[in-house]
Amino acid sequence: MSAAKSEHAAPRGLAVLGATGSIGTQTLDIVRLFPDRLKVQVLTARRNAALLLEQALTFRPACVVIDDPKGYQMLREVLAPKGITVLQGEEALCSCVQHPEVEVVVAALVGFAGLRPVLAALEAGKQVALANKETLVAGGALVRQALRQYGGRLLPVDSEHSAIFQCLVGESPQDIEMLTLTASGGPFRTRPLDTFDRITPEEALCHPNWSMGAKVTIDSATMMNKGLEVIEAHWLFELPAERIQVLVHPQSIVHSMVTFVDGSTKAQLGVPDMRLPIQYALSYPERWAAPHARIDWAALGRLDFEPPDPMRFPCLPLAYEALRRGGTAPAVLNAANEQAVQLFLQEQIRFTDIARLVEMAMEHLAKPGETPSFEHLQEADREARQYVLELAGAAIH
Ligand code: NDP
Repeated sequence: MSAAKSEHAAPRGLAVLGATGSIGTQTLDIVRLFPDRLKVQVLTARRNAALLLEQALTFRPACVVIDDPKGYQMLREVLAPKGITVLQGEEALCSCVQHPEVEVVVAALVGFAGLRPVLAALEAGKQVALANKETLVAGGALVRQALRQYGGRLLPVDSEHSAIFQCLVGESPQDIEMLTLTASGGPFRTRPLDTFDRITPEEALCHPNWSMGAKVTIDSATMMNKGLEVIEAHWLFELPAERIQVLVHPQSIVHSMVTFVDGSTKAQLGVPDMRLPIQYALSYPERWAAPHARIDWAALGRLDFEPPDPMRFPCLPLAYEALRRGGTAPAVLNAANEQAVQLFLQEQIRFTDIARLVEMAMEHLAKPGETPSFEHLQEADREARQYVLELAGAAIH
């Protein structure tokens, strides 16, 4: 019944923010599978103009947005004569999501930069398919406020949160006892701890199960990613830190679980392929038949679980601490981490410095308070980046 209904419905208009990245390109793979159900209206990138051009020529959106000035010139020359509006910069990112033909905004850009466009989308009453977890980490209270005020909807794309969202279909929030986020443990789950100082960016960029953008891959290696996801789960499902636990599950087949008050646990399982949760966020509340890989249960054989080791992964307890402290602590944690990851990728600091810098930034800069304004968060973000740069600079010279 529902499939027949959607065949006749107009396609959902999409804005894909961060279209040239890992989640962005996989979102476009889903659009290719369902051209009658999804129509790209907006595509954005920071500087990859060549790929954005190719995508625009394929999907013919109403509008593209790019940050890079040279890329903007080139795109305007080629696309404007074809009737595609080309815009540049942060303000354009916020206005394009409010385009009348856009129904769902896929937030697939990286970092704090996602917060303003997500708020703009929610203010216009749009649905937001959220991959950009940093938005909820830094600005979760503002996002919830916007949801209450304007009645938009947040659909999780992160595989763990999609799993929980799927487990909760048909359930009442008051029946949830505990959320369990699974974590692969990344590439260093069993590496000797005394060699962590020598981890190179190349080693940290080799994730055993997932192929992702550089920032989230490093976050997975430090397990800051799981810490950010705990904060993301807090805002998405409105549960306190003590009812969100993390379990290492190296096979990445169980994407997360919910335990209910009667002692029953539901889990969502699937192959580690981001196209599944992306598609669910776009098809919800329907499921659309798709040729994604299925689990071969007999070949899989076993599923393993173990508690995370806080000595090996100090970023995880830091994220819990930020969530408990509230105020600007999560925004400081997020910004310090973004900056430290960038410095690590540039080989300016060691792998183990990431957690140290984040901890120091939180100690020195985090301020208490209920719901910091966007301006407060922006200031906390700027200060934390600056602080990390100064500390790292002092250590290098
Ligand atoms: P990528 O680095 O692969 O892609 C990021 C995209 O955002 C690119 O299109 C990039 O443009 C654009 N972008 C980056 N910074 C800015 C900025 N400051 N302003 C505007 N656009 C920007 O990232 P991923 O796709 O891996 O991750 C995106 C988000 O999804 C992250 O928050 C991540 O944590 C989350 N996520 C990712 C998963 C994955 O499998 N990749 C899984 C779960 C969550 P350009 O290419 O031009 O630089």
